[in-house]
Amino acid sequence: MSRQVYIETYGCQMNELDSELVQGQLEALGYGFTTKADEADVVLLNTCSVREHSEHKVWSYLGRLGHAKRDEGREVVVGVLGCMAEREASNIFTRMPHVDLVCGPSMLDKLPSLLENVVQSKSRQSALTGHTARRSATLDAAMDGIEAMDLSRAFSPYANDRESGHVRRQAYVRITRGCNKFCSFCVVPYTRGPEVHRPAQHIIDEVKRLVEAGVLEVTLIGQTINHYQHEGTSFARLLYRIHEEVPDLARLRFVTSYPRDFTDEALDVMAACDRIGKYLHVPAQSGSDRMLKIMNRGYTLAEYTDLLDRARARMPNIRLAGDMIVGFPTETDADHDLSLRLIERARYKGCYIFKYSPRPGTVSSRRFEDDVPDAVKRERNQSMLELQNRICLAHNQSLVGQVLDVIVEGESKLRRESAPIDGVVVGWAKKDTTRLIGRTEGDEIVAFDGPRSLLGTLTKVRAMSATAVTILGEHVGERQQKADHRASPPQVDGP
Ligand code: SF4
Repeated sequence: MSRQVYIETYGCQMNELDSELVQGQLEALGYGFTTKADEADVVLLNTCSVREHSEHKVWSYLGRLGHAKRDEGREVVVGVLGCMAEREASNIFTRMPHVDLVCGPSMLDKLPSLLENVVQSKSRQSALTGHTARRSATLDAAMDGIEAMDLSRAFSPYANDRESGHVRRQAYVRITRGCNKFCSFCVVPYTRGPEVHRPAQHIIDEVKRLVEAGVLEVTLIGQTINHYQHEGTSFARLLYRIHEEVPDLARLRFVTSYPRDFTDEALDVMAACDRIGKYLHVPAQSGSDRMLKIMNRGYTLAEYTDLLDRARARMPNIRLAGDMIVGFPTETDADHDLSLRLIERARYKGCYIFKYSPRPGTVSSRRFEDDVPDAVKRERNQSMLELQNRICLAHNQSLVGQVLDVIVEGESKLRRESAPIDGVVVGWAKKDTTRLIGRTEGDEIVAFDGPRSLLGTLTKVRAMSATAVTILGEHVGERQQKADHRASPPQVDGP
């Protein structure tokens, strides 16, 4: 019987895609995959270093695996992949002697041979880039290898998990790796290395093949995606080419944008192409110029709001989303107020709010004392969340009455006895129907009742009521599904 692998993924979309590619690569070599960690022969943790909290979870999972191997005699290969492996490799091997391999995010194409070596030689294995050596020959070789891994992506009928009722017809496609910005709080440039852009034709071919395999929506991913540039192809040109050269792709989205150098040309392409989602995730991190400067963000508040204005002038209904950090070193109440004012002005459809925690190795952890008390961070976090929730509620309520195009992603976990939220009963499913959950092009979550046969389709739902998180709607009919011209939708069992 094939060796069974369990993979646990932490962090961002980059990691989700990496895990998917790792799975495809290992399945092609005869490994099986299981969702039951206790039954696996190999446990891989694909880790994130961006937040301290995420690393804590990995340390504690590794501790439990150590107990199982050491004290209960369980035979399992344990591997740590991703950003934490790159950043903490020697520490991991010292603190967790039962870990068999570590593999950085730019070396994942080496994973099969590492696994094989662990079994054959019964010795620990590691593959790391050491991104401090910028653009070294080692790095170039690593990038060639990792590009080969993207190119070897599996395109079998796209993930269709009938058992769980979760049907994915959405896929990520990487266009850029790494980051050159060195924001003072961020570990990404040290773990994923400098910005490297993939050839446009590789990206377009990947999108085509995903659509042929049944994918309706592609989200292009990169840390600073609008800085894409490869042999004369700009980000705007890449968006336009995908839109024009893959006409059966129903929806094209991208994350995450960097506020500087977002060109009018890219905004014009977004506005002109009907299948490009009118959604821009563009993290500000702060509304105070003083904080932006010590965060090394490279733009001012005025430049940031100019981008929002340029986007709204072309696409009045565009959904904007942001990220904010509260409690960065030296942040005062006045700085925090400026961030709140920015949120009011931006009227984000959603905003990810984080309490600052120093990450080892970053400039801010070396240069600044973490001097905002935790109680103050919590208070600022709370006031920002409350403001953002009020904006989300108003935004979702403004959509009531509209018919929305929704890709149906899965079944709601809420049951009819769930308590009302914002006065709206969200956990109700009528007899003989299922409460389904889908997403709009603007990333709004929509819940409605319908047959399970709608799972994995693009359909129309009228918004009837809304909470800050969810829009409740009723199904009003099918939408012509362009992707179906070439690919039959995956078969989904009925209720
Ligand atoms: S732009 Fe800044 S926050 Fe984003 S990945 Fe790069 S260094 Fe990190």
